[in-house]
Amino acid sequence: MIVTVLAVSFLCLVGFVAYIGYKTVIRSASPTKEELATERCTICRERMAKELLVERQIGDYKLLYFCRTCILGLNADLGSNP
Ligand SMILES: [Zn+2]
Repeated sequence: MIVTVLAVSFLCLVGFVAYIGYKTVIRSASPTKEELATERCTICRERMAKELLVERQIGDYKLLYFCRTCILGLNADLGSNP
């Protein structure tokens, strides 16, 4: 009888720990309001508002964002050669 009680209480403990872990993962994975309105530049990884970034789609799903500073840097690297 005592073994059954211990087994049931252990299963309850495991379920409780799994539930807490699940809640923690869900909370950390859901983006905040600020993260939805901003995006990271693909090159310099700086986070800024989406309006300030140029968005380009690569293939069917991958979206790349570039900030003005990085685009101007790329332009300067390209130089004036045709
Ligand atoms: Zn950048």
